[in-house]
Amino acid sequence: MKVDIKLKDKTLKESGETTGIVFNFQQFSIQDGPGLRTTMFVKGCPLHCPWCSNPESIYPSYQIKAVQDKCRGCGECLKVCKTGALSHDENHQIVLDYSKCNHCLDCVDACNYKAITGMGIRVTVKEAVGELMKDKPFYDNTGGGVTISGGEPLMQPEFVAEVFGELKKNGVHTALDTTGYAKWNIVKKVTKDVDLLLYDIKHLDSKRHQEVLGVKNEVILENLNKLAGKTNIWLRVPLVPGFNDDLDMADKIVEIGKQVQAKKVYFLPLHRWGEHKYCSLGYDGSAYAKIRDFTDEELEKWKDHFKSFSDYVIFGKA
Ligand code: SF4
Ligand code: SF4
Repeated sequence: MKVDIKLKDKTLKESGETTGIVFNFQQFSIQDGPGLRTTMFVKGCPLHCPWCSNPESIYPSYQIKAVQDKCRGCGECLKVCKTGALSHDENHQIVLDYSKCNHCLDCVDACNYKAITGMGIRVTVKEAVGELMKDKPFYDNTGGGVTISGGEPLMQPEFVAEVFGELKKNGVHTALDTTGYAKWNIVKKVTKDVDLLLYDIKHLDSKRHQEVLGVKNEVILENLNKLAGKTNIWLRVPLVPGFNDDLDMADKIVEIGKQVQAKKVYFLPLHRWGEHKYCSLGYDGSAYAKIRDFTDEELEKWKDHFKSFSDYVIFGKA
């Protein structure tokens, strides 16, 4: 059944219930914590990593995705768009100019071929928990649970904290995948019912961090220090050629991991899972395209470097 996003949004806002904007429930995930998990992805992120594999998470509310391959060139969406954000290319396929889009979603209703779809839907805590509890038998049988990821879940603190609280009441293992970029009172509130933190460190130099990701790193490192010993932590470092592929910095991050009593430190070389999404969201993906891949020799060098860290440092898989 097609959900009228705008109507649902209006009804829920008026109901006064705690709600959040979610863009995916991914079942049977094995990369976001132990065992089989369902990962709930929420919208909104204060960082702008050029290699983000979930670019649909960055904008904090609804947005549209226009997939050229599905477009039949009927022109119905162009008729309803009041901002001129949509046009046709020389093959009569849809082109989205994100800078002109006001996210009204009128084109989603106009397209009969699902070439334009809405990303994100508002859900109540009860609806989210109902969805997440569906796979409880799998969590129980595999030592898995639920992970909340994004985007940055700390941007929807009331909703995320309440979902975690309900899951804990139902005996579900909980994990938060986070950049750690938020005020401490928010971090404290959201992590209250979290069993495992998947905590990203992307660069130790604050100036470089800001230059590439849009924000400084001090608050991220301060929050990490405050979280030490309070819950289980896995540090995660996305390794990106030309940004943080620096063995000395990697060693310092491993040291930080030990200081904050992290159980594991993951180094995850760049992948290109999200690259194809940029165009359909109307984003400029040129910064992503400019990042080169690691060579096989470089990957071997990194693997060799981490051999001495035994099982504490894991290279290449989440
Ligand atoms: S969502 Fe954007 S592209 Fe679609 S009709 Fe509204 S302004 Fe135009
Ligand atoms: S309504 Fe759908 S199929 Fe028709 S031009 Fe727009 S995107 Fe293409």
